Amino acid sequence: MADKKWVYTFEEGRADMKDQLGGKGANLAEMTNIGLPVPPGIIITTEACNQFYLEGKQFPPGLEDQVREYIKILEEKTGKRFGDPANPLLVSVRSGAPISMPGMMDTVLNLGLNDDTVEGLAAAANDRRFAMDCYRRFLNMFGDVVLGIEHVKFERILETQKDQAGVKFDNQLTAGQWQVVVEEYKKLIERETGRPFPQDPMEQLFKAIYAVFNSWNTDRAIVYRKVNKIPDDLGTAVNIQVMAFGNLGNDCGTGVAFTRNPSTGANELYGEYLINAQGEDVVAGIRTPQPIATLKEEMPGVYQQFVETCRLLEKHYRNMQDIEFTIERGKLFILQTRNGKRTAQAAIKIAVDMVNEGLITREEAVMRVEAAQLDHLLHRRIDPNVKLEVIARGLPASPGAASGKVVFEADEAEKMGQEGHKVIMVRTETTPDDIHGIVQAQGILTSRGGMTSHAAVVARGMGKPCVCGCEAIRIDYDKEEFSVNGLIIKKGDIISIDGGTGQVILGEVPMIDPELSVEFQQLLEWADEIRTLGVRANADTPADAAKAREFGAEGIGLTRTEHMFMAQDRLPIVQQMILAGTDEERNAVLEKLLPMQEEDFYGILKAMEGLPVTIRLLDPPLHEFLPNAEELMVEITRLRLTSGDPGELQRQEELLKKVRALSEFNPMLGHRGCRLGITFPAVYAMQARAIFRAVARLVREGYTVIPEVEIPLVIEVNELAFLRRVVEQEADKVMQETGVEFEYTVGTMIEVPRAALLADEIAGEADFFSFGTNDLTQTTLGFSRDDAEGKFLQEYVQKKILPDNPFMVLDRKGVGKLMETAVRLGRSVNPDMLIGICGEHGGEPSSIEFCHLVGLNYVSCSPFRVPVARLAAAQAKVKNG
Ligand code: ADP
Ligand code: MG
Ligand code: MG
Repeated sequence: MADKKWVYTFEEGRADMKDQLGGKGANLAEMTNIGLPVPPGIIITTEACNQFYLEGKQFPPGLEDQVREYIKILEEKTGKRFGDPANPLLVSVRSGAPISMPGMMDTVLNLGLNDDTVEGLAAAANDRRFAMDCYRRFLNMFGDVVLGIEHVKFERILETQKDQAGVKFDNQLTAGQWQVVVEEYKKLIERETGRPFPQDPMEQLFKAIYAVFNSWNTDRAIVYRKVNKIPDDLGTAVNIQVMAFGNLGNDCGTGVAFTRNPSTGANELYGEYLINAQGEDVVAGIRTPQPIATLKEEMPGVYQQFVETCRLLEKHYRNMQDIEFTIERGKLFILQTRNGKRTAQAAIKIAVDMVNEGLITREEAVMRVEAAQLDHLLHRRIDPNVKLEVIARGLPASPGAASGKVVFEADEAEKMGQEGHKVIMVRTETTPDDIHGIVQAQGILTSRGGMTSHAAVVARGMGKPCVCGCEAIRIDYDKEEFSVNGLIIKKGDIISIDGGTGQVILGEVPMIDPELSVEFQQLLEWADEIRTLGVRANADTPADAAKAREFGAEGIGLTRTEHMFMAQDRLPIVQQMILAGTDEERNAVLEKLLPMQEEDFYGILKAMEGLPVTIRLLDPPLHEFLPNAEELMVEITRLRLTSGDPGELQRQEELLKKVRALSEFNPMLGHRGCRLGITFPAVYAMQARAIFRAVARLVREGYTVIPEVEIPLVIEVNELAFLRRVVEQEADKVMQETGVEFEYTVGTMIEVPRAALLADEIAGEADFFSFGTNDLTQTTLGFSRDDAEGKFLQEYVQKKILPDNPFMVLDRKGVGKLMETAVRLGRSVNPDMLIGICGEHGGEPSSIEFCHLVGLNYVSCSPFRVPVARLAAAQAKVKNG
């Protein structure tokens, strides 16, 4: 059987053969075939690499013969010969995986040089200094990259030689001096490997190929693949390419350039080059490179050709390119092209500009911007032109920047926040008890916890900057201070945090507002034209509702009424309600809450006028509104010891009793959601009444409002039927009392598997469904989120037991299956059933795609993520139709 084809010439390849030829090789092939000046070359396939591992790190059969054969092709093309002392062929050996990956083998240049061919190169170029320069580079790269000798050992020899010669820069050394370096390098190699440097070019080549294959499985590469979820079986290709020399004199050079500005997106060449240099010299900081614009004066002909090449490449790839080039004696060679990395801002501008230039379609433009990247543009950030006094660094947990006074307690943060101070809440970690403080703080800094810790998740949800796991800071709650590297920061001192970089900065820093550039808005408008999935926001206050509208939300998918109960002026009343001994007592307290809730709903419905607003009735367990038992015990002990006010002592003891009575073994599965409504219908009735009174007022004032009353945590249609009556009764009463007619709907969250499985029955009583995927994930996986994220989930993801954190990326396989079932069953009863999602997943691009696929009507997410969701919904449509 004939051996497999392991080797391709550039002419035989194409851009769409990345899997086989690697990204670099496929693009070199493509450029060759569109007629660009690319030095000839050959590519060993990724399959050869995989086979190499299957054979226990042996070259697969036929590979060596094919390489020899293909080297002959290069010899014919160039008229040079491998190992020919008179006219030697020199090549570079470059790795190149299908997905560009740092950590792979560094490139070896000038392979083919030895003690004989170096003389031939000197003669051919008529430049001995140049030839020796190439030789020492090769020895260094080969010694370091292929033979594994530490780079510093070569560096030291070079430094010594430069000192002896009394020169500062490499390019000041003479041919003779380079030759000394070459001799020293060869000795070093022999010393380190116990064998003389291999003079045979073929041996050099096979050693280099072996090293490239080997580099696929270095620790660095393996870790990188793990982190970036790149499969381990892609393999790397090997590119063997004829050298172009940028170090042949002052009419030579090497450089890198982007076809557009990668940081702003401006349509201008952006890059630098170095005269008389080779390979990585430009980026290695050996000499300061010159901006590409200078090339226009220095080599106008080459510059013109380069500009045209850039234009051609952009047109061909229909994308911004990142290009490597070398100029050999006034002739331009292109050595690499790939789609250029860019900031979010640049991505947007380039996409929109390219549509306007007729280069790409609107659909393509929408696909060009990574939805998750938009985060950076939707938050205030630190003015990049300012020098910062960074005192510590943590995890960049929630983007945006904030300055404020340091506080350590949630109560204090709340108090100061309400008084109008800007505060940064600093804690070892946060818990649900700290929410009221987080709400009022400008930003959160924690010394413990990761990217999915409570602080991180809550802050992201609220669009607040957060730096987590900043282990350098030591908090002393008693002294109300923290220390960091010997510095003491006291309560009230001002610090700043940048949740996009993880930096903690001393003092206040100047900020710039988020830029909703013209291009950004344009792109989102195109996204709106394309998408079929609606986008709503989760908002609990009129201010949030207004922000959501500004960002393009088409309604509110979730208003959490409990947040209204948490406010400082409400909490005592809510506690009275909970502590009420009799129904009469409770009803009297509810009367007090009623006008407050009415005002809340009035504000939100008005801010969202003309658009639907889903209002969820009380959801959390009641004990969340009561002080915590330990704190109460401390207080009671204090009162006893100081023989304080006996009335107060009794009150606190009563409170503690109630707290104990309400305490649950597993609050997540406890007395909450509609179970509260079933046992305390008066609470839900009050809330419904408040909603409808607000609605009636607004209707009378001429507003169009679309209220959707939502019952949480339903597991059984009877619950919904019962509570629906409660709501309807209040609606009827309000209509009678006010004489105003209004429309409303009543629906339910689907957030427990039983509800999803019985969605057809439930649909009989529901006008709409909304997937509460936070709870649905908890109940489907049987994970309590706080425990899972704090204890084992990270390891689950690391060990690839689960592909992602299911609280961040919707678990399509499990939770998704329940969603699909619920949609199907629900629509079998009510084909027009409105179905949405309001869990945190509603703002996450992959989950949004899933929502599109199962036919939801809308996703709902935090106001700050609305633009992300608009874009992601359009991308889902383009991708899946
Ligand atoms: P990386 O993936 O790290 O950029 P490359 O293989 O692209 O590695 O190259 C390292 C450097 O060597 C780049 O500056 C590249 O342009 C240069 N280079 C690679 N092959 C050749 C060649 N045949 N002639 C001249 N320079 C080359
Ligand atoms: Mg490169
Ligand atoms: Mg829920």
